[in-house]
Amino acid sequence: MWGPQYNSPPVRWRIELEIEFLTAWRIGSGQEGETTDMGILVDPDGTPILPGSSIKGVFRSCCERLAGALGVTACLLDRDLSGVDCWNGFDSASFRQEKKAISEGKPRAVELRRRMEEKTCHVCRLFGTTMMGGRLILSDGCLTKEGWPELVERRDGVVIDRDEGVARDGLKYDYDVAPAGMNFSSTLEWIDYPRALEKEERGQTLRERALVAAAIFQWSDGFSLGGFTSRGLGRARLVVLSVKSVDFGDPEQAGKFLVKREWNLVKDWENRWQGWIEEQLATAIPGARVTA
Ligand SMILES: [Zn+2]
Repeated sequence: MWGPQYNSPPVRWRIELEIEFLTAWRIGSGQEGETTDMGILVDPDGTPILPGSSIKGVFRSCCERLAGALGVTACLLDRDLSGVDCWNGFDSASFRQEKKAISEGKPRAVELRRRMEEKTCHVCRLFGTTMMGGRLILSDGCLTKEGWPELVERRDGVVIDRDEGVARDGLKYDYDVAPAGMNFSSTLEWIDYPRALEKEERGQTLRERALVAAAIFQWSDGFSLGGFTSRGLGRARLVVLSVKSVDFGDPEQAGKFLVKREWNLVKDWENRWQGWIEEQLATAIPGARVTA
């Protein structure tokens, strides 16, 4: 899935993590629940599930919020809103025009990739666009063995009249929530190119490392996931279980991984990540001075 990029050996990172729900939470199914108006996503046994795509969406939003502070561009998938040019936020007419200009020049694959990156904001380069695959994945949550109380809870809601600010008579609804205390394990993996020949591409590697590190640190303090978070649902905390990597520029590491799927355990990851963040700040923020 990673594909050849940048003509240089990549480094692959793997974070094994756990997400602990401190409150009840819900990821809506878009359908009625068994006994309520609004159901949640469950597996065939009725156990609430946590899709990797849901985690990734919220992780992306977290990275977008951190982008400014780290000197990283984020289009927010809306060029007008963010003021950042990005193919992912383009209107379709300008997008077609750009695509035509590129195809007429018949650039080689490497050149095409470079042109696409130039037109893509830093956050979209990591998470992917409709044109360009992302380089970060999050696996579906896997319920940890502590299990769950086998009970989907039911909550009531009322439709509030926006003008009057009061509940409208008779307009009540109910919805399912998954209980507090459910824990899921998941893995976050991404790939980068610290040995890329071009300075811009090495710069992108540092930006992404700083972004992922800052977002993981933030999630360790707590974050919200799923629907109705304004009603206090979906408060969660992330715990990093382990950080591993494979440097494909190191024949021994690459060999061990390719033959035995052996990862290299990164023991001092917190210090290294702090180093990434400080280096990115020193590089990207004018006037920033980081002292050791
Ligand atoms: Zn973008």
